[in-house]
Amino acid sequence: MIEQTQSFEDLGLSPELLKAVEEAGYSNPTPIQEKSIPLVLMGRDLMGCAQTGTGKTAAFSLPVIDILSHGQARARMPRALVLSPTRELAQQISENFTTCTKNHSLGHAVLIGGESMPDQERALLKNPDVVIATPGRLLDMFERGKLMMGGIKILVIDEADRMLDMGFIPDVKRIASTLPRIRQTLLFSATLGGEIRALADAFLINPKEVSVAPPASIAKTVTHTMIKVPKFPKDKRAALRRIMAGEDLQSALVFCNRKKDISVLRSSLRKHGFEAEELHGDMAQHNRTETLAAYKSGKIKLLICSDVA
Ligand code: AMP
Repeated sequence: MIEQTQSFEDLGLSPELLKAVEEAGYSNPTPIQEKSIPLVLMGRDLMGCAQTGTGKTAAFSLPVIDILSHGQARARMPRALVLSPTRELAQQISENFTTCTKNHSLGHAVLIGGESMPDQERALLKNPDVVIATPGRLLDMFERGKLMMGGIKILVIDEADRMLDMGFIPDVKRIASTLPRIRQTLLFSATLGGEIRALADAFLINPKEVSVAPPASIAKTVTHTMIKVPKFPKDKRAALRRIMAGEDLQSALVFCNRKKDISVLRSSLRKHGFEAEELHGDMAQHNRTETLAAYKSGKIKLLICSDVA
């Protein structure tokens, strides 16, 4: 559950945006939105410590939309760039922009690996104001001359800690080196450890820091349980089946440490009558997207996945 405090009207957003926010069903800002939005509207660089589920996407998308509403993108020169470590997060950010730009004439394009380059090139020809991208595909497009970075006024680095874990920092640094030095930079991360702070030193200028949850804390609604099993992996699978059979499961994600364990576990569960599907980075992007959509709609109840989920 998202904690809510004051009203969106207090944050300095435009009437068009307030209308879109209301239509999205957001009645009050979440704490990260309340703290970030006024600072971003002021033009400050920001380091936000917030996890997924806190409303962090709208914490940057809303003020970015209002800032960009005062201008227009030139040919293949977007004005804001949002970097995401995963394709799925990029899609979620895109959905958020679609919802929040309902009353604006701002366009955005999504550049992610595993999907058609020509489609994405066509999207760039529409001169999007915002580009939401994973680092590799963005560099690829840039190096092919499909977009220019000289017009970027705002850079958002989302889930910086995951960028670090996934080895994307060299790409992020290369991307940052192609951007104008005078710009606004917003960095979001679930944790703000030493390496993230070093990154912030490299990319941000005199940033304001906002935090809504202590590093590595978990949501209040989550219960942790550890189950010890004597024989590995046979007893582990039996224990998992026992847990699942004992619950009235509406939806469940089972994470595996290694990709190769995913299909083994899925086959084993299916043999025991559990309708399980899998989700991991070795699947074709369209299969990943379809599987995720089926999980979200409730068609798939049980998803065995890697951290890509
Ligand atoms: P995020 O942390 O950005 O992934 O957002 C988590 C979820 O919270 C998304 O489904 C958002 O649509 C939703 N959300 C974001 N801001 C608000 C808000 N102010 N009120 C209610 N829901 C929100």
